[in-house]
Amino acid sequence: VLTADLHAAADLLRTAADVTLLGHVNPDADALGSALALGLALRKRGATVRVSFGPPAEVPDSLRCLDPAGLVVPAADVPAAPELLVALDAGSAARLGWLADRVGTSGQVLVVDHHASNTRYGTHHVVDDTAEATAVLVLALIDELGIPLDPDIARCLYAGLMTDTGSFRRATSATHRTAARLVEAGAEPAVLARELMDAHPFAWLPMLARVLGRAELEQAAVGGRGLVHTAVTMADMTGVRLEEVESVVDILRATSEAEVALVIKEMAPGEWSGSLRAKSAVDVRVVAAGMGGGGHRLAAGFTTTGTAEDVVNRVREMLRQPPVIASQAPRTRSRS
Ligand code: 5GP
Ligand code: MN
Ligand code: MN
Repeated sequence: VLTADLHAAADLLRTAADVTLLGHVNPDADALGSALALGLALRKRGATVRVSFGPPAEVPDSLRCLDPAGLVVPAADVPAAPELLVALDAGSAARLGWLADRVGTSGQVLVVDHHASNTRYGTHHVVDDTAEATAVLVLALIDELGIPLDPDIARCLYAGLMTDTGSFRRATSATHRTAARLVEAGAEPAVLARELMDAHPFAWLPMLARVLGRAELEQAAVGGRGLVHTAVTMADMTGVRLEEVESVVDILRATSEAEVALVIKEMAPGEWSGSLRAKSAVDVRVVAAGMGGGGHRLAAGFTTTGTAEDVVNRVREMLRQPPVIASQAPRTRSRS
């Protein structure tokens, strides 16, 4: 992050009396954890804070453990014209979903994000695409403000760091140093891993059996390397939460044949949400952008319409001459 940006953002936050913090639609642990951590820190300094997002209308079950203090309010309760808006882990105003309009109605807008595609839609920016998670940027802000960490803040930041690095698969020495600091401040790795990752209901298993049972491997679809893909229909999703379905792409990705994994999820009849994951050589953000979405080099997504076959065909076509990541040397890259 540019030191000047960090200073300007800290100055803005230091004097703010009322702060609205927003995560992206379908918030993950980095979006919600970052918003809650900064909200908790500012509340310690006496500010009135609220955290929100939408859709969906409710905090996903697996993320409830991040908000024991109840900082999250329904999107409908967010003021029409907030004094200070802080957008976290959202690369564009559109990623704020139901609350995207507040970018235009707020007094000041601070954008804290690590997406390479960030459109710099705020009045102040702490944007760094080399950060492995937005949580890391929030920690830098909290340090700049001189607010001490506590277990509740540390838990939220650790959750974002853990999930965005793929459970530390993409960690550097700096990631582990940050993680160590957060654990020393009271984050409990075993408790968080259980609550955030090992908390699927039993109904997850029959859904996986159906969806994984029809996964396909195309050995040479990605410039000679493998594509593993499957589709999740609305019927497959009945009785399971979106969180269960979101785990599927990471299972496909865990096969050695998969250079790229693709899961398309039918959110409404004929409307598909696609998740792309890459191992190291291919930049799936470019593919997702070609489908009208975005994301990171190794984790990206899109929303589109058509038949399942159509959608897979279009992605396959774009992968035929795959956008290669220039440096294949190990480098911190982030999810979500
Ligand atoms: P996921 O597959 O976990 O839903 O998404 C992976 C990442 O891709 C997200 O963290 C986000 O950065 C990006 N992403 C997913 N869906 C969309 C989308 O519809 N539009 C854009 N711009 N980015 C998306
Ligand atoms: Mn995210
Ligand atoms: Mn993130």
